[in-house]
Amino acid sequence: MFEKSTWIRLPRNVVVGHGVRSSVVEVVDELHLQGRPLLVTSPTPRAVAAEPVAADFEAAGIDPAIVTIESATFESVETVIEAAEAEAASYLIGVGGGKAIDIAKMASHHLDMGFLSVPTAASHDGIVSNRGSVPDGDTRHSVAAEPPLAVVADTEVLAEAPWELTTAGCADIISNYTAVMDWRLAKRLKNVEFSEYGAALSEMTAEILVDNADHVRPGLEESAWVVTKALMSSGVAMSIAGSSRPASGAEHLFSHQLDRLAPEAALHGHQVGVGSIMTAYLHGGEHGIWRDIRDALDSIDAPTTAAELGLDDETVLEALTTCHEIRDRYTILGNGMDERAAREVATKTGVID
Ligand SMILES: [Zn+2]
Repeated sequence: MFEKSTWIRLPRNVVVGHGVRSSVVEVVDELHLQGRPLLVTSPTPRAVAAEPVAADFEAAGIDPAIVTIESATFESVETVIEAAEAEAASYLIGVGGGKAIDIAKMASHHLDMGFLSVPTAASHDGIVSNRGSVPDGDTRHSVAAEPPLAVVADTEVLAEAPWELTTAGCADIISNYTAVMDWRLAKRLKNVEFSEYGAALSEMTAEILVDNADHVRPGLEESAWVVTKALMSSGVAMSIAGSSRPASGAEHLFSHQLDRLAPEAALHGHQVGVGSIMTAYLHGGEHGIWRDIRDALDSIDAPTTAAELGLDDETVLEALTTCHEIRDRYTILGNGMDERAAREVATKTGVID
């Protein structure tokens, strides 16, 4: 008897392009959202994008509220929840880099409200996915939230973001290669749920990005276009899979562990990129695809070594040997690497000297 069922949750409108920031009110109208929006933003994006969007709402006769958060913490999520209640907001709009959007996503989940994503940096795939996580003391508070109702990604705004945020977004996409390798391995060894569509879309997204790496250059608005489309596609792969597996394997565990050991040392995408070089080596050995991953990262100016991440060798080794403990997600790291093995992979791949 056939008893499978699945829910695939996707954003209803995805608007990407030059000047589309001014389409937010139209998108809200198209979604038939009523009442008052609460714009969730952080200090820099507030001036660049949130205030202009708020002005558009006012011009349309809608009175928006704004809350500015400083950090990606659980306290910020609570601040937003309180603001939404105090301002009688009926939906949220995250305007900013990954931080403001993650917070808006998590708050909207707690409030059982819809939210829109208006990214001002193409820095990671959280701008479209349904996954949200923030550090919460010694652990991470993660939720499988809803994906945004809509994403409005203005390439004119995104191109103005610091260049390293765009290269971090690229590196996050390139890491899809190893995420899918880990997922296939977990399917073979642990029978975890696997989606051929989710895996294929995720790998294809990374391939298209690598093929278009020549168009990813500082000062080119097309870079924002290429990277944002890839982040959307990666987010759709996660929605199809109903899991972050298509875009998150051992390289993400490594990055989450670095976040604990050396908070704010480097950007998420840059950390997963370096992690991906090493886990590709673990999957394929000397002749595997680790060199292709390293070269792809290098070609878009993303870090490929511990030093370029601003980390010392010992921190990298500690993250590599302990990150399998973070969550119950089977990867190439299995039950953990011993220190000599970790040192060998990090040295052979040139991540440490
Ligand atoms: Zn990521």
